[in-house]
Amino acid sequence: MLKFVKINQQSPPKRDVDRRKEDFNEIYKDFINEKAKEQSSRCSQCGVPFCQVHCPLSNNIPDWLKLTAEGRLKEAYELSQSTNNMPEVCGRICPQDRLCEGNCVIEQSGHGTVTIGSVEKYITENAWNNGWITSIKVKKEKNFSVGIIGAGPAGLAAAEQLRNFGYQISVYDRYDRAGGLLIYGIPNFKLEKFVVERRINLLKEGGIKFFHNFEVGKNTSLEKLRDQHDAILIATGVYKAREIKLPGNDLENIFPAMEFLTASNKKGLGDKVELFDNGTLNAEGKDVVVIGGGDTAMDCVRTSIRQNAKSVKCIYRRDKENMPGSTREVFNAEEEGVEFVWLSNPKEFLGKNKVESLVVNKIKLGQPDESGRRKPEIQKDSQFSIKTNMIIKALGFDPEDLPNLFGAEDLKVTKWGTLKTNFDTMETNLSGVFAAGDIIRGASLVVWAIKDGRDAAISIRKYLEKKENESKKVA
Ligand SMILES: Cc1cc2nc3c(=O)[nH]c(=O)nc-3n(C[C@H](O)[C@H](O)[C@H](O)COP(=O)(O)OP(=O)(O)OC[C@H]3O[C@@H](n4cnc5c(N)ncnc54)[C@H](O)[C@@H]3O)c2cc1C
Ligand code: SF4
Repeated sequence: MLKFVKINQQSPPKRDVDRRKEDFNEIYKDFINEKAKEQSSRCSQCGVPFCQVHCPLSNNIPDWLKLTAEGRLKEAYELSQSTNNMPEVCGRICPQDRLCEGNCVIEQSGHGTVTIGSVEKYITENAWNNGWITSIKVKKEKNFSVGIIGAGPAGLAAAEQLRNFGYQISVYDRYDRAGGLLIYGIPNFKLEKFVVERRINLLKEGGIKFFHNFEVGKNTSLEKLRDQHDAILIATGVYKAREIKLPGNDLENIFPAMEFLTASNKKGLGDKVELFDNGTLNAEGKDVVVIGGGDTAMDCVRTSIRQNAKSVKCIYRRDKENMPGSTREVFNAEEEGVEFVWLSNPKEFLGKNKVESLVVNKIKLGQPDESGRRKPEIQKDSQFSIKTNMIIKALGFDPEDLPNLFGAEDLKVTKWGTLKTNFDTMETNLSGVFAAGDIIRGASLVVWAIKDGRDAAISIRKYLEKKENESKKVA
């Protein structure tokens, strides 16, 4: 270990820009064994490992780096998966630059971070290749059942943990596939679908039951589901697209991001998507403008590039330094030919029936607002227009009105519409109804969804054990 003084930081190579723009495959190549060992050996084995402190899952990073450097790859995997249900997903799409790697001590000292995400991906892929990842074998089946609403990372992590404890698990999802945003939001060039499907198949083999095309609120109510199960977990994510109310908003060819990304992901999965096939949701040959500066916006611009758009512009009201999206993704987008129009605020969509241009005001950054970020202020007489025939709005997501949707007026929500949840127990105001992931945090990250799912599983277990003990006393 401690070889950072002699060995330079190295990430797995990226595929050549011109080649990677031609398909939707992941852009990073894998580490070969020797590189993974070598790069892991750069770690200085800190007494207080800031990488671990800044990981929402408290992954035991220094220890599995050491095991990797020593070639003890099975143990490295076992340690890594003991705190994370999907290390191969986090290795690929966590914003490590804001979490573990951004806080690595040798990064702070100017030597370049240990490439933690790439090693995490390597040891998990190696475990899959060696058949070390197997389905859950329940030792003692329990008579209690848990209904999980939502098959995204929060629901899946909770399902796996609870099944490991022996409970009967049913996962309900309104989509036709499990995976949530891992399948229908995040594009293949960041996370290929087989990675998620492989995990889901394993959960099915382990006895977890999945009910697809099953929408709570439509196919059943929360109340009925509570009657069917001993505990419920709500992990439905956030899907209400934030709007900008501008003149011309109702013109054709202006789309919410999820509509565009879901169509593209479904096509990649081999589905028939009429609105894509007839060209409506296909960026090919179009002058695309994406509004927004987060991860979703980056996924939209890079998807448009791969669909052979004529030009792709990203409009964002702050500057590059103040973008909410991962800097790594912004860099990748720039490399792939996306043009960023910083400090610009959309004013009006123009066109006859279909959108033909976007009028934009220039922005200057003023004093910091209550969030600490400098407030965008419109510059006088700065208006200009951008020719476009496809607009994608990626302005973030809010929770749907769950109490109304679920027919559960007594389910309490916060002022932001997220479920009111006790973060110590993950329980909502309804007894035996727990919640996890974006629906309690607002739009967040996969790693936080996994953490919530795991925390909720621990609380649900406690709740069910209490129930079991009480029923024994009565008997
Ligand atoms: C385009 C995009 C890119 C992203 N990129 C990244 C990234 O690179 N890295 C990262 O860490 N995070 C990223 N995120 C965020 C991340 O995907 C989410 O934080 C995470 O998926 C939240 O997990 P979840 O389980 O709470 O919800 P979701 O993944 O949204 O899953 C919720 C599930 O609940 C189901 N559901 C909803 N309502 C009902 C109902 N009434 N009945 C039945 N089922 C229902 C949905 O169909 C869905 O399958 C991205 C998000 C988007 C939109
Ligand atoms: S902070 Fe960096 S050097 Fe320190 S233990 Fe973590 S990975 Fe190793």
